[in-house]
Amino acid sequence: MRITEVRTHLLEAPLSEPFAYSRAWYASRTAMLVEITTDTGVTGWGECYGPARMTQAIVQAMKPWLIGANPLHTERIWQQIYADLRDHGQKGLLIEALSGIDIALWDVKGKHFQVPIYDLLGGPVRTAVQCYATGLYRRKQGNPLDYLTEEAVGYVEEGFHAVKLKVGFGIADDIAAVRAVRAAIGPDIGLMIDANHAYDAVAAIQLGRAVEDQNIAWFEEPVPPEDLHGYRSVKAALSIPIAGGECEFTRFGFRDVFVGHALDIVQPDTCAAGGITECKKIADMAATFGIRYNPHVWGTGIGIAASLQLMATLPTHTPTALSSQAPILELDQTEHPIRHAILTQPLVHTRGGLAIPAGPGLGIDINRDALDAFRASA
Ligand code: CA
Repeated sequence: MRITEVRTHLLEAPLSEPFAYSRAWYASRTAMLVEITTDTGVTGWGECYGPARMTQAIVQAMKPWLIGANPLHTERIWQQIYADLRDHGQKGLLIEALSGIDIALWDVKGKHFQVPIYDLLGGPVRTAVQCYATGLYRRKQGNPLDYLTEEAVGYVEEGFHAVKLKVGFGIADDIAAVRAVRAAIGPDIGLMIDANHAYDAVAAIQLGRAVEDQNIAWFEEPVPPEDLHGYRSVKAALSIPIAGGECEFTRFGFRDVFVGHALDIVQPDTCAAGGITECKKIADMAATFGIRYNPHVWGTGIGIAASLQLMATLPTHTPTALSSQAPILELDQTEHPIRHAILTQPLVHTRGGLAIPAGPGLGIDINRDALDAFRASA
């Protein structure tokens, strides 16, 4: 079996209303998909997290190394590309590009053997996951305390058991938003906060202490990803669990996070940290160090499906059978016209739960008409 073609699909869609997190506004959504075809007619799909035009260029540059290779050799291909580029790209865009390629290869492998990827990873520990709603971003119009509480209540009414609120807009502003959202959703719904590394450790500890009485499920990316000392300071100062890792890459990057016990919850993105091959290894390391693994997900149905296949095989966080806590899926609820449109059957939650697709490979089929409809201009 040989790889015959590697195509990239750069997609873009404007948003009806821009939204902001702590560091930037979004006015459009992009996606960078990888399509790998083979001499047996099997086609696999992957997705790269990160700046789409840059990851597209890197995947295109990696293409000559892939043409003619055996697509079943996911481990060999990963090792070869990583070793060839080690001197120039141990983190960031190169690993994001490699992630999309690796996911596409696993999709090929599952389709070739006519089994879901989780069968190839050792079999499913679970067939469905609970999801939390990622949303509660800032808008150009309106009072945040009004629209954030209204949006949060909407997620609860949809059946979500947990919601994540963006913070990082100034400590007083954040405290008001956290208290308003907690009051609106009541005491029984999980509430996470995510600063997207807007703060240093001093400010993050100030915010954390001010909202410790609000039963926060986790405080995500309080400080920049490279500041592991800052992470440890925040973690030591607060009773709130500390999460992060969407800006970390490969088992080598996460090794320092684990050894330093910088996080309570680690969040590698399957489309960024090295694909399914690498994230399985990172997840095994997380379990070894007793650190919870809840993947970061910010993409289309391909990224969601890849995360679900991996999550099928992850151990529970707590080992006690009667009260075990399973990994939870991040389900982005912000506007993303491409997210579901590229799938023939969208991955839609039911009362906050999502079944893991059981079909071959990623268990999804691509709607090619949608690829044409959203194709970005070069
Ligand atoms: Ca985040």
